[in-house]
Amino acid sequence: MQSNTFSHGLWEKTAPPAPRTGRLAGEKHVDVAVVGAGFTGLSAALDLARSGVSVAVLEGAGVGFGGSGRNVGLVNAGLWIMPDEVSAILGEEYGQRLLKTLADGPALVFDLIRENGIDCEAEHAGTLHCAADRKGLRELEERARQWQARGAPVRLLGGDETAARVGTIAYLGSLLDERAGTIQPLGYVRGLANAALRAGAEIFTASPVSGTEREGHGWRVRTTEGSVRAEWVIVATNAYTTAPWPQVRAELVHLPYFNFATSPLSESALKRILPGLEGAWDTKTILSSLRRDRQGRLIFGSVGALRGPGAAVHSAWARRSLRKLFPFLDDVAFESSWYGKIGMTADATPRFHRFDRNVVGFSGYNGRGIAPGTVFGQYLARLIRGEISERDIPLPVTDPREQSFRSLREAFYETGAQLAHFVGARV
Ligand SMILES: Cc1cc2nc3c(=O)[nH]c(=O)nc-3n(C[C@H](O)[C@H](O)[C@H](O)COP(=O)(O)OP(=O)(O)OC[C@H]3O[C@@H](n4cnc5c(N)ncnc54)[C@H](O)[C@@H]3O)c2cc1C
Repeated sequence: MQSNTFSHGLWEKTAPPAPRTGRLAGEKHVDVAVVGAGFTGLSAALDLARSGVSVAVLEGAGVGFGGSGRNVGLVNAGLWIMPDEVSAILGEEYGQRLLKTLADGPALVFDLIRENGIDCEAEHAGTLHCAADRKGLRELEERARQWQARGAPVRLLGGDETAARVGTIAYLGSLLDERAGTIQPLGYVRGLANAALRAGAEIFTASPVSGTEREGHGWRVRTTEGSVRAEWVIVATNAYTTAPWPQVRAELVHLPYFNFATSPLSESALKRILPGLEGAWDTKTILSSLRRDRQGRLIFGSVGALRGPGAAVHSAWARRSLRKLFPFLDDVAFESSWYGKIGMTADATPRFHRFDRNVVGFSGYNGRGIAPGTVFGQYLARLIRGEISERDIPLPVTDPREQSFRSLREAFYETGAQLAHFVGARV
């Protein structure tokens, strides 16, 4: 079982192969250089290439190496924070625009998947946010009220219906969001890359960008063995940023998150656990997520990194928790495990930055990046084509701001999760 920093776990086993790409060597001249081959960069590249703009994507590792290839695959329709809080942080105008944009995000993702024939186990079957206790239930009631006031198709389900849908009596109720669904994330990001290549974009992997400099009206973007001259640069490096935009890294606190995937479950277990194929997660502070893949594996995740002492602690907790949630399961074997880092901003809203003239990017999706990355990538494409101005983007332009006590908070997340899981594996 692999669980190193580079592993994409189950997703690597079941995704269609990565497109054939190579390193950048020598010099190129294009309209737009995109740095980072995740949802954001590839969605922008696809949209730009489709409209005849020449694009080169420069990726330091491989397509989907970052969050895009290792997430849970929950295609959500909003942020973690409550809708009213989004407006309180961003102001009414930006708040409403962002909420509307993100509410429509899953539909856009599932449409793109259909249009481009992307093989990624797409299930537009909704998600269930499950109440772990009374406090969680009250939170979900408030969430339902705020979304319903905005006309969103969300519905609070009682304990019995939640038990029938999830297959456990552990939850007091849940919030069903029919806009949302699940995908195989590595399959999706590779599918976006294939679609972008077919539309004429070029993608270079193992080509980390080490620096940029102005050249005439545009930029020269350097990698170890080559360089790209471009009018525009998109910075789509997000939580996996390496040089040359350290300010993107400094703005984000990294929250580690792991997943374990079981072997395919028995027919009888599949009739009881998430038979409707919704994605699920709970209201705990150190939350857990739960979903199935197409072959009937259960994918169970929570906060923590599978390295050092954490690996054994989180693994013991995951086994114990699954037995508690689903006592009818025979001893559960884990087939794969993997983890990644989620980029959290100080106020839990994403960021739109203009780093310099014609150098733009989004980051800080706070664990909600499938739909936002796809949507924001398309916004960047429209901005570059001159179809919209920065003012039309549903987030204000801000300068990256370093978060205080970042390292301390990162250590706190990891040790807090280890402690909670250590205790949780014993009660
Ligand atoms: C474990 C985990 C679970 C998650 N679960 C969910 C979920 O269920 N639903 C959801 O919506 N979101 C989830 N997320 C968040 C989501 O995965 C991310 O927000 C999203 O993938 C970000 O996409 P991106 O394209 O902006 O960045 P990334 O996918 O991180 O891509 C950035 C890319 O830039 C490359 N790069 C960095 N620096 C350079 C450089 N100097 N030169 C060239 N390339 C560079 C990296 O190698 C990387 O491939 C999760 C994240 C993690 C880690």
